[in-house]
Amino acid sequence: MKVNFYTSQREYNEKKAEFDNAIKSVIERGISTLGKEVKDFEKAIQEFTGAKHAIGVASGTDALVIASDILGFKEGKEVITSPFTFLASTSCIAKHKAKPVFVDIDEETFNIDANKIEEKVTENTAGILPIHLFSQISDMDKVMDIANRHNLRVLEDAAEAFGMRWKGNGETYKHSGSIGDMGVFSFFPTKTLGAYGDGGMIITNNDELAEKARMFRVHGASKKYHYDYIGYNSRLDTIQASILLVKLKYINEAIKKREKIAKLYMERLSDCEGLKIPKIKGDQKSVYYVFNILSEKRDELAQYLKENEIGHSIYYPRPLHVQKCFSYLGYKKGDFPVAEKVSQKILALPIYPEIKEEEVEFVCDTIKKFYKK
Ligand SMILES: *Cc1c(COP(=O)(O)O)cnc(C)c1O
Repeated sequence: MKVNFYTSQREYNEKKAEFDNAIKSVIERGISTLGKEVKDFEKAIQEFTGAKHAIGVASGTDALVIASDILGFKEGKEVITSPFTFLASTSCIAKHKAKPVFVDIDEETFNIDANKIEEKVTENTAGILPIHLFSQISDMDKVMDIANRHNLRVLEDAAEAFGMRWKGNGETYKHSGSIGDMGVFSFFPTKTLGAYGDGGMIITNNDELAEKARMFRVHGASKKYHYDYIGYNSRLDTIQASILLVKLKYINEAIKKREKIAKLYMERLSDCEGLKIPKIKGDQKSVYYVFNILSEKRDELAQYLKENEIGHSIYYPRPLHVQKCFSYLGYKKGDFPVAEKVSQKILALPIYPEIKEEEVEFVCDTIKKFYKK
């Protein structure tokens, strides 16, 4: 049995008429940058997340770069973050010549180890950039406490965290991205809420930051041909927004399906010796964007899955502190032992709402066969 790591085909076939109509209605109206669907989608995201403002941009990466610019992550300022993430979480800091300051990750959640943040705060620190990876939100109680006491800005990389909510020791569950000063989502096709191309969003509860973000995405213009800032050309595409509006209608259902698949994996793999399954920490509502396992024999297992036509992925095989592009920061192998260890053991299994139970069973049986060899 061939098992795809991800495919958009099944969802498209299920809702073909809805997707086709959404796209058609945009095209029929003619040229439409930041069109009606973008506004409708931004409003829908505000409602879904509870954030006061939502600003659609061209990608999650752009959302991070623009938000970093607005929050003053530049010119020698330091920003504390984790090296175990996708490049964009750190390149956005480096882009305007701020300095990424890495902190190792928590062994069980793969998110920034919040207990190690404060020791890195200096008088140059401008902010903290926590990344909510795979299935859960970082310890935002600790992050916000440190930020408040040291007057730091918090940018949440919630690119992978759509639908996740954090309560911690607070009163209510807050959507990822709405806890810090600004938060970003990515609508890259494989993400929990994914388009058929690139897309991203910035959310914030702060009126001033929102106004700047709205200007920055159109070259820093406060009105047409009047430029208050040197900005960007980074708009969420109207066709992608029309697709995202369709997908958002079914998002709770999709999240539930992901949870069901994750539970099936956990059940079937719980007695598999040699495998570790990540834990969710803190009072939060997780979303299984990615389902990871940790294996001492990761590379052999990955090869075995490949031979059996099972799609898989490795997020992330090489932490950012040892990437060539960040060599100028002066980090070396051994600086963040947890991130380095996890990057050698981690393996992501197929999970998406339309995956079939028998496919998940087949993946689990194959993994068990590998361990019995
Ligand atoms: C996907 C992702 C991004 C970038 O989003 P794009 O829309 O692909 O630019 C940033 N950070 C993390 C953690 C991501 O997973």
